[in-house]
Amino acid sequence: MFTAFLIKYAEIGVKGKNRYLFEDALVHQIKYALKKCEGNFLIHKSQGRIYVDAQGEFDFDETVGQLKLVFGISGICPVVSVEDEGFEKLRERIIQYMADVYPDKNKTFKVHSRRARKNYPMESMEINAALGEAILQAYPEMSVDVHEPDILLNVEIREKIHIYSEVIPGPGGMPVGTGGKAMLLLSGGIDSPVAGYMIAKRGVKLDAVYFHAPPYTSERAKQKVVDLARIVSRYTGPIYLHVISFTDIQLYIHEKCPHEELTIIMRRYMMRIAEHIARETGCLGLITGESIGQVASQTMNSLMATNEVCELPVYRPLIGFDKQEIVELAGKIGTFETSILPYEDCCTIFVAKHPVTKPNVKIIRRHEQNLDEKIEELVRTALDTDELIIVEG
Ligand code: ATP
Ligand code: MG
Repeated sequence: MFTAFLIKYAEIGVKGKNRYLFEDALVHQIKYALKKCEGNFLIHKSQGRIYVDAQGEFDFDETVGQLKLVFGISGICPVVSVEDEGFEKLRERIIQYMADVYPDKNKTFKVHSRRARKNYPMESMEINAALGEAILQAYPEMSVDVHEPDILLNVEIREKIHIYSEVIPGPGGMPVGTGGKAMLLLSGGIDSPVAGYMIAKRGVKLDAVYFHAPPYTSERAKQKVVDLARIVSRYTGPIYLHVISFTDIQLYIHEKCPHEELTIIMRRYMMRIAEHIARETGCLGLITGESIGQVASQTMNSLMATNEVCELPVYRPLIGFDKQEIVELAGKIGTFETSILPYEDCCTIFVAKHPVTKPNVKIIRRHEQNLDEKIEELVRTALDTDELIIVEG
């Protein structure tokens, strides 16, 4: 019955010359999302709106499911699109539409028509009145409420006539690609995929980096991170995932630095390396899944010590979230089940029994000097052996 979708998007902040950038990015992301669906779709902008027209057969649920992944969409309206064959015919179609979409007629409604084509022989007010009357005649249980109708029946007279009333909520946010790009530090945990999702939702494209420590972390642990990136990429489009071999750096830090400072120093090297790749790939910031107080390396003091080594802004969208809130979000976006698979993480392997919770930055810096030039060499090797995996949902 439905042959098209009208895509609604929030217009806040997309006035003037930014508007077409926003719309083009949205069209691009919709095309990407619908590539995975059966059927052909024509996606086009028309008079300040975006339409998805199905060309022939398509699977309604699958298509809506994919559209729900596209940031920037605030609502998805399934549209019945009919040829203009005169008002009498339109009246019949409207009555049919109400029968098909609302089996329960105990509802209030309002007709809202618009003439994008001004040569249509009736004015909007007339159309509203005539169609309202037709509906009341056909379904006496229904009544009109112009202020808060249960059903707002939209009738748009264009080349064809579009009829729609249902709005399926979209994910909101901004289309990916309108906000630049950032580098996500992606581990196999629960938090970092959610952090990536949240920043991407604001229109930011994601690259990712994973610190792998073979043989302490297995191929399966790495595969888990690839799988998580794939789930996130359903929302974002392809993610360039950099896999960095971190083993030698970790072992060297382990050899030269006090064990209770190991995690912090390791985290500082992760940030330095991530920042290096970020700069080379045009990323404008780093993203982590940190949240204040969650673990020893995420106290305010520890965050200060880790943050100190980067110049790029570090985005930590989960900073004020409780674990339970993060878990709920992970469930909603579909990463939770993969995140809780029990493979080892490089941070947990070298972790001390009593890590510092209030690292002193000056002392950390002094202990890092134990690492001398050799660490530079190890970092360079890690960067040179960066394995790039392009992940697509
Ligand atoms: P997560 O659930 O995201 O793994 P976590 O609670 O285990 O987080 P930490 O291990 O302290 O916390 O890591 C904090 C953040 O550092 C992570 O959210 C992630 O952004 C980054 N990170 C940690 N380990 C790695 C890794 N092996 N590769 C890439 N990033 C990492
Ligand atoms: Mg972790």
